[in-house]
Amino acid sequence: MKNRLQKEGIRQEFWKNKQMSEMSKLEWEALCDGCGKCCLNKLENDETGEVHYTKIACRLLDNESCKCSQYSIRHQFVPECIVLTPKNIREHAYWLPKTCAYYLVWKGKELYNWHPLISGTSNSVHDANVSVQNKTIAEFEVNEDEWEDYLWEEEV
Ligand code: SF4
Ligand code: SF4
Repeated sequence: MKNRLQKEGIRQEFWKNKQMSEMSKLEWEALCDGCGKCCLNKLENDETGEVHYTKIACRLLDNESCKCSQYSIRHQFVPECIVLTPKNIREHAYWLPKTCAYYLVWKGKELYNWHPLISGTSNSVHDANVSVQNKTIAEFEVNEDEWEDYLWEEEV
């Protein structure tokens, strides 16, 4: 019997057997663990280049599901939302969370056991407490010049 991923045309352990550039669109999307961390607003120190995550989430992030509420049409509302691709991951790697599956695979590292592709359930990322579930503040609730008072305190 085929499991859900095989039915969707996603090869088992494709992230181990394919280069990022060889992944299908479905496989590329499936690599996302759904943590929602990349949708937190960040502050970047102009002098040091250091990136600090805040608890302030993009206006489209659903605090409960950790998903983008308008993913397919998000650029209509958030034109600056970055589309991560095999070509631009090198350029963006410096600000990606260190648990991000794209970052891990790009670095040649293993995915964590809580990754939905390994656990078989999307809830495992929340159960492992590595997602932003119920921890964010909507960006329209806080002025941008106050974001530094709302730094993300956990490791990213
Ligand atoms: S940080 Fe990476 S794995 Fe987590 S939601 Fe963003 S793209 Fe997906
Ligand atoms: S537009 Fe959607 S995918 Fe992009 S940062 Fe906002 S919530 Fe995340």
